[in-house]
Amino acid sequence: MKRRELLTAGAAAALAGCAGEQVDCGPGVAGESFTWKLVTTWPPNFPGLGTGVNRLAEMIGKASGGRLKIKVYAAGELVPAFEVFDTVRSGTAEMGHGSAYYWKGKSEAAQFFTAIPFGMSAMEMNGWLYNGGGLELYRELYAGFGLVPFPAGNTGVQMGGWFNREINSMADLQGLKMRIPGLGGEVLRRAGGTPVNLPGADIFTALQTGSIDATEWIGPYNDVAFGLHKAARYYYYPGWQEPGPVLECTVNKEAYESLPEDLQAIIQIACSATNDQMTAEFVARNAQSLAQLRTEGEVEFRSFPPEVLTQLRTLTDEVIAELVAGDPVAAKVYASWSAYRDRAQDWTALSEQAMLNTRP
Ligand code: CA
Repeated sequence: MKRRELLTAGAAAALAGCAGEQVDCGPGVAGESFTWKLVTTWPPNFPGLGTGVNRLAEMIGKASGGRLKIKVYAAGELVPAFEVFDTVRSGTAEMGHGSAYYWKGKSEAAQFFTAIPFGMSAMEMNGWLYNGGGLELYRELYAGFGLVPFPAGNTGVQMGGWFNREINSMADLQGLKMRIPGLGGEVLRRAGGTPVNLPGADIFTALQTGSIDATEWIGPYNDVAFGLHKAARYYYYPGWQEPGPVLECTVNKEAYESLPEDLQAIIQIACSATNDQMTAEFVARNAQSLAQLRTEGEVEFRSFPPEVLTQLRTLTDEVIAELVAGDPVAAKVYASWSAYRDRAQDWTALSEQAMLNTRP
C-alpha cells in the first residue's frame, strides 16, 4: 500500500472505531484536520529559538499524520513579539512560543516559571515543573487567562551580558541602562540601574547606537548570531539573572480542548521533546560559538566580582520578598518553587556541583 492509502485506511478505521459506542475518542472526531497558527516572540528562523519552534511545528504535523498542521509566524509577521500572550488568549492564533517572564504585566507570578535570579538550573527547573508540582501551578495560573502552558525549551545557564565598561563594583551599575527583562531587571533597578525590555531583534541596534549601555540576551550561540560581539567589548559571566530559563509553548485552552485526545497528547509530547532538544542544542552550539569568540580574540571575558554577585543576590531576595508580600498568587507559586529549590540545591551540591568541582 502506498502511504496515502495507508493514511486513508487508518483514518477510516479510526472513524469506524469512534463511531462505535464502546470506543471513547474524546472530544472532536478522529480524522478531523486542524490548521493552526503559532506566533512567537523570536525573530524569523532565529538559531535555536526560532528554528526550535519550526521543528516543534514539523514534529506535530508529522506525528499527527498531517491532522494538526501548524504554521509558524515569527515576531512581527502576524503580531509583534510582546503581543504573543494576548494573541493566543484571544484565539487569533491557537499557539504561541516565548517565555513566561515577558507576561509579568499580566501576572507577576508568571516570571517564576521562566527563571529566578540565582535560582534553579535547567535540570532543577524541569524537576520542579514535571515532578515537583510546578507544572500544576503553571497550568492553574494560565487557565485564568484561557491558556494551557507547556515547558518547551530551556537555554541553560545564560551569560551575564555585554558591557562597554568594566563592572568592578556596585557603583558601576549606577545609571547603567541595560536590556534585562524579568526579575533580573528589577534587581538592576534596585542596584541603581535602568532596566529596559526589548525584543531580541531590537537589541543590536540599541547597543550599537548607545541607546542602551549594556544588554544580556542568551549565550554565545545566540549573542553571536545577533552580532553583539561587534557592539560591546566585555562579555560577563555568569548569567546570575537567568540560571536555567524555561521557554514556553502556550495553547489557547478552548482550541486545545476541542482537539481529540491523541492530538492533545501529540502537542504535549512534541513540547516535551522540544524541551530536551533545545537544551541539548544550546549546550552544543554555545560551546561552538564560545570557541569562535576565543579564536577571534576580540572579546574580553570577565566574571562579575564575587562581592557584586553577593550584593545582587541580597537585592534579589528583597525584590522577591516584596513581590510575594503583595501578591497571593505569586506567594503561592514562590512557596512551591523555593521549597523545591531548597531540596534540589541540597542534592545538586552532592551530585552535579561536587562532580563538576572534580574536573580539571
Ligand atoms: Ca536572557
